[in-house]
Amino acid sequence: MQRHPWIFEGAIAQATPLPPDGAAVDILSSQGTWLARGTWSGKSQIRVRLWTWNEAQPIDGTLIAERVATAVAGRKRLIADPGTTAYRLIFSESDGLPGVIADSYNGYVVLQLSTVGAALRAQAIVEALAAAVAPHAIYERSDADVRAKEGLEPVDRLLWGMAAEGPIEVLENGRRYTVDLLGGHKTGAYLDQRINRRRVAAYCQGAEVLSCFSYTGGFELEAAVAGARQITAIDSSAEALAMAFENIRRNDITTPYEQIEGNVFSELRRFRAEGRTFDVIVLDPPKFVHNRSQIDRASRGYKDINLLAMQLLRPGGLLATFSCSGLVSIDLFQKIVFGAAVDAKRDVQILERLMQAPDHPVLLTFPEAEYLKGLICRVT
Ligand code: SAH
Repeated sequence: MQRHPWIFEGAIAQATPLPPDGAAVDILSSQGTWLARGTWSGKSQIRVRLWTWNEAQPIDGTLIAERVATAVAGRKRLIADPGTTAYRLIFSESDGLPGVIADSYNGYVVLQLSTVGAALRAQAIVEALAAAVAPHAIYERSDADVRAKEGLEPVDRLLWGMAAEGPIEVLENGRRYTVDLLGGHKTGAYLDQRINRRRVAAYCQGAEVLSCFSYTGGFELEAAVAGARQITAIDSSAEALAMAFENIRRNDITTPYEQIEGNVFSELRRFRAEGRTFDVIVLDPPKFVHNRSQIDRASRGYKDINLLAMQLLRPGGLLATFSCSGLVSIDLFQKIVFGAAVDAKRDVQILERLMQAPDHPVLLTFPEAEYLKGLICRVT
């Protein structure tokens, strides 16, 4: 048993009696040996998510409370760090809780339940979180497109405690950010880039920096604190740029800061036509690949922006390029960046390989959990 937590539809010879959606099911080998216990998702290709390999352990409130407590204990140093008040508490399969994501923003927990097995157990999950971290409130923001695959409606509601009045402030690496818990993307912010923002900033002293797909300005903020000379941010969302601007202001940054509301693909072409160049370029696009059929088209998209960025970099400039598409492997991503380098006729060295922050761990039996990958490259 390799303990991979997914069972696809095609791997099941028979299901008798047919379980209702979300029900706990026992998995038996073809010889009838008990193997594992999971929850049934009758509408998803991933038909069963496995929660336990211990026959004596039911999928109940006790199991959920234990898993939540273990997840929280594993993050205790991060939770104790006064400089960071926004982090992921539970990362789904990697924390033994398939379909459950919980992020904490200064004591406000945002829960995402993306499978029917998790959705049916919301009450036990909320109770376990309330006991483990005593939050001000727990919201559910299960609006991810994956819910459709499970036949679940999106939800946006307060599950526990008192709602925050308006956006709240959190700290990340000691920097102040505004987070709009109900209006923002994902569960509010991109916590997975926390460490990478600092890693990239380490190259930004004295640099002219271009941050593409800025959202609320995390890469810009760290670059500014690290002593960037000038910063330009591009995003297609006016609301995101307004939040980024507010975050820059809130941290008393005086670095010259320019924002462009536009499409990165066309803005980079415009810069190229104008002959504009930079010392550091960050590419942190949204997820381009949602299913396998999109991989080719997305690869062309990644190649396009990476090629353009290389063309805009001064000799010796730095490219920090990311993909958060789980279906694009690090090998494929590196090949795409290689293709861009060949077309740009530039020599490109990888200086660092990056992944998601450690509060988004990758369970060894579940490598699919590693979705964010990044390369810091020197382009000569
Ligand atoms: N770098 C950010 C996260 C980026 S999320 C951080 O560190 O927090 C992706 C962002 O890309 C979103 O803000 C979205 O508005 C923006 N976006 C998506 N497609 C875009 C496009 N084609 N051009 C410009 N911005 C785009």
